[in-house]
Amino acid sequence: MNIKWFFKHPQTSHCPDLVREPMLLLNSSGRILDLNDSIALALNAGKEDLMGANADSVPGLAPLLPGMERAFKGNMAVTAPEQIKLGNRIYRPTVYPLDQNGESEKQTSAFGLVLQDITEYVNLEEELVKRNRLLMAINTISTVFLYSNIASLFDVLHDKILLVTGMDFCWTVVREKEGFAARGMRGLSRNLRARLDSGALDIFHQSIMDSGEPFTVIEGPEVRNYEFFEKDGIATLVAQPLSIGPDKVGVLVMGSRTEADLGFDMASLINLIGNHVSLIMEKVRLYEESERLAITDALTGLFNIRHFYDSLAHEIARARRYGESFSISIFDIDDFKNINDTFGHQAGDEVLRTVASAMKSISREVDLVARYGGEEFVIILPNTSKQEAFRQAARVKDGIEAETYLSGKTKVFVSGGVASFPGDATDEKGLLYAADMALYEAKSLGKRQIRLAGVS
Ligand code: GH3
Ligand code: MG
Ligand code: MG
Repeated sequence: MNIKWFFKHPQTSHCPDLVREPMLLLNSSGRILDLNDSIALALNAGKEDLMGANADSVPGLAPLLPGMERAFKGNMAVTAPEQIKLGNRIYRPTVYPLDQNGESEKQTSAFGLVLQDITEYVNLEEELVKRNRLLMAINTISTVFLYSNIASLFDVLHDKILLVTGMDFCWTVVREKEGFAARGMRGLSRNLRARLDSGALDIFHQSIMDSGEPFTVIEGPEVRNYEFFEKDGIATLVAQPLSIGPDKVGVLVMGSRTEADLGFDMASLINLIGNHVSLIMEKVRLYEESERLAITDALTGLFNIRHFYDSLAHEIARARRYGESFSISIFDIDDFKNINDTFGHQAGDEVLRTVASAMKSISREVDLVARYGGEEFVIILPNTSKQEAFRQAARVKDGIEAETYLSGKTKVFVSGGVASFPGDATDEKGLLYAADMALYEAKSLGKRQIRLAGVS
């Protein structure tokens, strides 16, 4: 057959040698009539071997046969929807009928097959899909702050981590003074949850924080090194330290009970999640710190007066509901003005701090100690009778006296008044007034003593 026949086709040259893209010509029974070097190269075969061969006997062309069939039958161009991979290149094949000398009415007897090299496009597309997935992951995780309050934040966060990673479980712990505290967990077995709560995984958490690695993957036979993970049927575990600035503050762990595919994409996703969770931790810290500051007296570190009023109201409501009694005591430093006048205001501040820490250490865990004003302090003693509160106030007074102030340059004494709910009053104002009157009495009776409200 004279190939040059097709050369005059209006749309393209039909002489394969003049076409740069891989191209060949076939007759309607699929025999290869002509081909160019680049298709021989793409098929990794000799040009002479391919010439005259049948397309269905050429391995690389086999997937294209259905498309060719359609082109033959329909006498029309067919671009295969599927891509073919030859070597490390990806092609989109088009088969189209060729007319003879422009006599397009006649049934076509030859076809051109052109392979369009789309490797770059496909790679670009894959890259875009990857980036899109990362962006969606960032977006999903970032919205945690929009939809949840601080208390449920980590639950929502963990749900989203499982959603974007396809992992089965995850948890976050933060480093506390002693050990690690779980901030939240999702998908854990009861057994593993118990271990996490009991601190049994602290050594593991610490090793992740100390590793210096962005994240650690434990999978396959390595799981056997961790008895508790192996027992739990865990196949893959990814643990990464969380940091705020230069400080490592906790660990995020996620994992799967089936072997997870941790390819390059997953690694960048995990890294990204880790960074995001770190950012979220930082925000949570800031939020909690501002919450703490809002109820803390800056000089002494005790609760401030606002928090005292809130707590008093809360305590009254509680005592009313449960028919309980409770007490409050008010303390005022005796002759504090003298300390300021003698040693200066800074020294006065130091005395206030020492008094505050003495009060705090003498008080019980359940008692709420607050700075009421300049050199006045209050304690709420839940579920405490007036007599008990009196003894407790006396202990506080003695403890304050026993403290060393300004390296022993001065002594500090206090007076105190105690009042109880519901005996002395049943509302905040009344209770404070009663305690204040008792304090006033202590002062007028010569200071350095505790008085009970309503007892003269
Ligand atoms: P009394 O025994 O009757 O309680 O006498 P007092 O001197 O303790 O009482 P007064 O109320 O006359 O004086 C309290 C002083 O406490 C006056 C004020 O300057 C001082 N003060 C209040 N707040 C602070 C503070 O934050 N730092 C310092 N250094 N002094 C304070
Ligand atoms: Mg005072
Ligand atoms: Mg005073």
